[in-house]
Amino acid sequence: MGKILLKNILHKDVASDLEISEGVITRICPAGSLHPDDDVEVMDCSGKTVIPGLVNMHTHAAMSMMRGIGEDIAFHEWLDRIWQIEEKIDDEYVYHATKVACLEMIKTGTTTFNDHYWHMPMARKAALEMGVRPVLAYVICDRNTPEESERQKVQCVEMYEESLTWPEHSMFAIAIHAIYSVSEPMILWAVQFARDRGLKIHIHLSETEKEVLDCKALHGGMSPVEYLDSLGVLGPDVIAAHTLWLSQKDIEILGKRGVTCVHNVNSNLKLASGYRFLYNELKAAGANICLGTDGCASSNNLDMLETMKTSAMIQKAWRNDPSAMPLEDILAMATENAGKAFGLNIGKVEEGAEADLLVIDTDNYSFLSPGSFLANLIYSAHSDCIDSVICQGRFVMKNRVVPGEKEILSQARESLKKIL
Ligand SMILES: [Zn+2]
Repeated sequence: MGKILLKNILHKDVASDLEISEGVITRICPAGSLHPDDDVEVMDCSGKTVIPGLVNMHTHAAMSMMRGIGEDIAFHEWLDRIWQIEEKIDDEYVYHATKVACLEMIKTGTTTFNDHYWHMPMARKAALEMGVRPVLAYVICDRNTPEESERQKVQCVEMYEESLTWPEHSMFAIAIHAIYSVSEPMILWAVQFARDRGLKIHIHLSETEKEVLDCKALHGGMSPVEYLDSLGVLGPDVIAAHTLWLSQKDIEILGKRGVTCVHNVNSNLKLASGYRFLYNELKAAGANICLGTDGCASSNNLDMLETMKTSAMIQKAWRNDPSAMPLEDILAMATENAGKAFGLNIGKVEEGAEADLLVIDTDNYSFLSPGSFLANLIYSAHSDCIDSVICQGRFVMKNRVVPGEKEILSQARESLKKIL
């Protein structure tokens, strides 16, 4: 792995030289003070600013070729439609669709994604080829059938064992689809399996009001959060997507257990699942809060900048409070809070951190103002201001060019024809 030197880049408003070596940020010095050796890849970054790579904390990457297939219908009808299509997908589809997703993620500034999807080894192959950092879960979803539970247990063990040979930068996790799609014995098995091996647990939780009402009817009045807590599931190793329909007691539990709650605003809005994400309350209770896009079948894109903007706008609107979800909080949710959730040194621009970085081009109308850089980035700019992306110390996009873009799209197009 080579060295990179970003010359004259703005870091926290200071013109700096930033050196990357062996995948890590090794030095950040005043501009002009670092002089490269011959083997260093140098980029002149005058007029550009560095920020951490963004982290999409909940997605189903291979849904990148399912955009627009279930519009204007209710959540459960939508889910049935997705499951019908998913019966037709295979390794080849997931490989190509994940490559398309990685292409979009790179172009929109995501360097790490927390994936929750079938045929996971193929998603991993695609992500590694594209150079982004994946967190890949084996998805448990037995739909209350014992035969399926047994099949998934065997497959999960096999994939976990294979993951022991993975290089450090792709992380294996356990996904439990949701309480309504996984039997209680299987939830308990999956959690035990994860805890015995120190794996993260990724679950959809309290996404819709129906999920809460059904759970209460089935489990003696307990909410999904109370139900999972009664089973001993919740802890700081749990990454819960949505957590939208919460009581005061639920919030206290999620805070006390140190759960990571992932807000997926665009998916929630479009499926009309709800919009009152209890950001202030969860944060005050001690939960770790991150952002995600969810899959393209519901959010239609993987653009984290759009997610950051919409999350803040909706908070301000429904709370009738323009100070809700301030700029620094939005950035932290999309970067360092995710690092905290995974126990990875990502989401920060500082010496010793992993070199997952975005080079932002500020030489355009979005940034031509005395307003703060962060305000211009989140509220004014679009992801085309992202000039270059470095992940794990390597350029995965340079001056807006991702190598092989045309081939990725044409091969994906062929693969899509087979499932239509
Ligand atoms: Zn999801």
